[in-house]
Amino acid sequence: MKKCEIQSLTKIHSLKLGFTYCYLLECTGGYLLIDTSYPQLYSKFKKKLARLGIAISNIKYLLITHHHDDHAGFASQLMTDTGCTLITHRNAVPPLKQGKSEDTAKYLNRRVQVTMKFFEVFMHGNEWIYPPLTLMGDEIILEGDDKSILPEIGINGVILHTPGHSDTRDSLAVLLSDGRAFVGDLAMNFLWWTGLRHRPLAIGDINSIYGSWQKLCEHGAKVIYPSHGKCFPSAELTA
Ligand SMILES: [Zn+2]
Repeated sequence: MKKCEIQSLTKIHSLKLGFTYCYLLECTGGYLLIDTSYPQLYSKFKKKLARLGIAISNIKYLLITHHHDDHAGFASQLMTDTGCTLITHRNAVPPLKQGKSEDTAKYLNRRVQVTMKFFEVFMHGNEWIYPPLTLMGDEIILEGDDKSILPEIGINGVILHTPGHSDTRDSLAVLLSDGRAFVGDLAMNFLWWTGLRHRPLAIGDINSIYGSWQKLCEHGAKVIYPSHGKCFPSAELTA
């Protein structure tokens, strides 16, 4: 068994779409998808689903960990095509309706800033926008932690409010009872040369990030599944 694998009841699939890992969790009658990647990767997503033998109509829920474009990119298209139910934090709703990432969060350090300048050129001036979401009123909009929704849809776990990465404080994490935690951008596991040490590239508030790391660990997180980079043991989350 690899160091970050855990025996579990809930079956998951990780889908790498560009720089973003999206996760499919089996739930009652289908799947909960955690995050979407950029809008232009929707067809790649559908191909990966087909390879797994999963019909797109089997995606019943979409949890968006926070409103950034590499997490909500093809959410609008997916919701239209599947009628899946959106789960997100209240603070994510205004930017999701606009289809635009905030531009107020700061890069962690100078090395990250330089790296991201190259990335912006590579993205051809993408202004961190995506097709806006149209909400119909049947979405599940959370104010904070939630312990009932996941069990109601057959997933043994909780949703935790884990602010710090975005200025809007809209970040959510899914923590399964076996200790696997899907954290969006609250922690990362790539670009080590920039000195991230699992911290996100962009920071809303660094103390909130450390506080959310601690909260996850206190609630039993053992393995962190970030949106950027591979899973790693939660013991590596140290300020
Ligand atoms: Zn983000």
